[in-house]
Amino acid sequence: MGQTVLLTGGAGYIGSHTFVALRAAGHDAVVLDNFSNARADVPDRLEVITGAPVRVYRGDVRDGALLARIFAENAIGAVIHFAALKAAGESVEKPLDYMDVNLGGLTALLKAMREAGCFRLVFSSSATVYGTPEVLPVPETAPRGYANPYGFTKLACEQILEQVGASDPRWAIATLRYFNPVGAHSSALIGEDPQDFPNNLVPFVAEVALGKRAALNVFGDDWATRDGTGVRDYIHVEDLARGHVMSLGHLVETGQSHTVNLGTGRGYSVLEMLAAYGRAVGRDLPHVIAPRRPGDVAEVVADPSKAAALLGFRAERGVDEMCASSWAFVSRRRNG
Ligand code: NAD
Ligand code: UDP
Repeated sequence: MGQTVLLTGGAGYIGSHTFVALRAAGHDAVVLDNFSNARADVPDRLEVITGAPVRVYRGDVRDGALLARIFAENAIGAVIHFAALKAAGESVEKPLDYMDVNLGGLTALLKAMREAGCFRLVFSSSATVYGTPEVLPVPETAPRGYANPYGFTKLACEQILEQVGASDPRWAIATLRYFNPVGAHSSALIGEDPQDFPNNLVPFVAEVALGKRAALNVFGDDWATRDGTGVRDYIHVEDLARGHVMSLGHLVETGQSHTVNLGTGRGYSVLEMLAAYGRAVGRDLPHVIAPRRPGDVAEVVADPSKAAALLGFRAERGVDEMCASSWAFVSRRRNG
């Protein structure tokens, strides 16, 4: 049966794609976002894509009174909690902001959910909780760690959820560990649209493709990988969005909490991703070799088998589709 799902951070990159996937699967969704990292016109674009009005509450996820009002005004059956600060580098400069938004946001939300009698939650975790993985591909049972305050907050959120989940059997909590989301919706109306400075590889590559940057800085070519550059498990954001719908379905059907990786199980190097983006654009994109980035790791690739066995989830789209959809989105944005 269709649920009304509250999406905190629902105007952001992954949240907006999940909004579309939920509607396509017969659910409805309500968005809470403070637009600190989202464009004001995302709700309008979601209306165009889904063909129905979008209910948006503009405010902060730490605002308990606002959360209470949202639960009072909507029959929320589940929450997907995307809202967070997510830039690892910035978190080193501003650790308290990360504790406040990421930990304070989660605890405010959990309290409001308990008050409202809503006990189904899907949480945006990250492969960052594996720190430097010792085993590749990395299974969910791998030891956890962190390398910066952002990673600390994701690990701490997982631990908060474990404590809260254990305290009351009514909680059904999904912890989804995303690998590297890239790409954009097939409509090219929504995608990754950083407000100021990109944090991740593909937005940097896009700026090179747009001519805003002369060349990609490749952070090290002396890693112990096949071409010396860092390897990651890139997953198309539409596949990732579908993973949320499947996880929610599992929570509703079984009431069972679960923790799963959402990745493809395949790794691509920085140079391989740059080449794939070049194929999408139709020309080779320039790069220069730069020093390693502090806190980086050589290779992170998901073991996706638990998500397949438990949820029936398999990523379907490859890197060419990821890069082509990203390019379609950023070139459309550039042209207004
Ligand atoms: P995003 O920044 O695009 O989306 C987050 C949204 O939350 C934004 O729309 C922002 O305006 C909103 N927000 C931030 N602080 C808020 C607050 N205090 N109150 C209300 N809204 C607030 O990021 P994303 O890439 O869509 O990431 C979503 C989630 O997934 C985050 O929790 C992030 O840590 C996690 N994650 C992202 C990645 C990635 O590479 N994109 C990887 C792993 C995990
Ligand atoms: N990377 C790079 N140049 C950039 C941005 C990223 O070489 O301008 C590399 C980075 O060192 C890593 C990979 O691209 O090997 C993915 O980086 P990203 O920040 O996107 O993801 P994360 O490291 O958090 O998995």
